[in-house]
Amino acid sequence: MKCIECGKELTLTTKTYVANLKNCVIIVKHTPAYVCDCGEVYYDDETTERIEDIVYSLQKVINDIAIVEYSKVA
Ligand SMILES: [Zn+2]
Repeated sequence: MKCIECGKELTLTTKTYVANLKNCVIIVKHTPAYVCDCGEVYYDDETTERIEDIVYSLQKVINDIAIVEYSKVA
């Protein structure tokens, strides 16, 4: 996988994903992510789907802040 912005090879690591929703904030720690030296961050399709599932199910049960571990909820 290469960076869309600068074309460099991406490095697989983990990032803290933050979803700012209307009435809550969902923070997913240690989410697998591809990062570039230029600062761009990418999530692959599988990870994006899982994040969407996590956010969708959590936003129904919380109304402030949720902090979860990706490996425990995905
Ligand atoms: Zn880049």
